[in-house]
Amino acid sequence: MKKRKYGKELGFQTRAVHSGNDVDKETNAIKRPITMGNSYELPYDPTNINWSSADSILYTRNGGSNQKYLEEKIANLENGEDAIVLASGVGALSGLFFSLLESGDHVVFSNVTYIAAYRLLNELFNEKFKVKTTIVDTTDIEEIKKAVTNKTKLIHIETPGNPTIGISDIEEIAKIAHEHGALLSVDNTFASPFNQRPLELGADYVIESLTKYINGHGDSMGGAIIANDKELLTPIREQSQVNLGATISPFNAWLIMRGSVTLPLRMKAHNENAQAVAEWLESQENISFVSYPGLESNKGHEIAKKQMFNGYGGMIAFGLKANHDKHNEFVSHLKIITSAVSLGHDESLIVFIGEDDERQYLYPKEFHNGFFRFSVGIEDVEDIIEDLRQALEKTGLFSKI
Ligand SMILES: *Cc1c(COP(=O)(O)O)cnc(C)c1O
Repeated sequence: MKKRKYGKELGFQTRAVHSGNDVDKETNAIKRPITMGNSYELPYDPTNINWSSADSILYTRNGGSNQKYLEEKIANLENGEDAIVLASGVGALSGLFFSLLESGDHVVFSNVTYIAAYRLLNELFNEKFKVKTTIVDTTDIEEIKKAVTNKTKLIHIETPGNPTIGISDIEEIAKIAHEHGALLSVDNTFASPFNQRPLELGADYVIESLTKYINGHGDSMGGAIIANDKELLTPIREQSQVNLGATISPFNAWLIMRGSVTLPLRMKAHNENAQAVAEWLESQENISFVSYPGLESNKGHEIAKKQMFNGYGGMIAFGLKANHDKHNEFVSHLKIITSAVSLGHDESLIVFIGEDDERQYLYPKEFHNGFFRFSVGIEDVEDIIEDLRQALEKTGLFSKI
């Protein structure tokens, strides 16, 4: 059978179902199989093989078939030319930074990022490898303009940002980066390619933690770097995968492939549920603030409207008009929503980030008294809201308005 193509003329849902899959040549199964064997038969004369190449069929660390299928799919969903899939989102971040940056380079990055991006740039690359780093509130374009110089190699942003859900303007930041000869990488994990596709807005690299919405079921880890220019990815593939070893396991690649089929359906539910929950929280007297880009009151709403074309995602941050202990007590009364890290799972997850968090000083003022990062799941929204309501009531913070 001829290999089928799933191009941009097709809808996102059709591509989520079909891309990366094909009929298995050996068995005729209509789902491609998992190949767990880690080594491959060598040709008659193996002496010409490049043992460090990511293209040789040789050893799973140099690239395996399930990884390749998933790369095909992720590149398709982000409307990119190519993707590299690695063992985790952090594997993707470190792979990108490691191959791109050299001592003396300058990087501008968001004040609000996933903690490992902060550790990598602010500590490892800055202190150990002498890469100069500037932390900037990237929700403010003027701050970026002030920080970028002709020595800037990379601007790295997250939007919506983890954990404060701030919105940065991808298109404007891409323009600033390119005017200075710098590249822009965007961590798109919170939005997912269903809601936002940074490459179409001018970003050079997109990072996804596949562990989150793309897999969607909280049962495997993976990460991806996507670009519109294959050349940008080739060195990262050889370094981060073959030589640094952040290779994804075939089983995890297969699980993510399976989970990602329902990404559009799940994202629709996340978008709707989070919007309803954010509006409900905003109506509550004892909620100190709600950060969700779908709220008209939100500072980033207009930019989000421009760049998040299907909805505003499933992530909300909010606080209680109460002390530290009451935040913990509130969580202890929840029955459906689970206190756990990670996000983008089918189930609702909540984390209390206390007022003594080491990066609190980088966050907007309303976050300084401690807050929740809430990953709104795809349960019935009435049940999620009732769970929050009864927990507020038991904590003595529910008042009928
Ligand atoms: C979780 C997360 C990561 C890291 O991904 P892992 O798969 O956990 O390594 C990176 N960026 C964002 C925004 C995340 O939420």
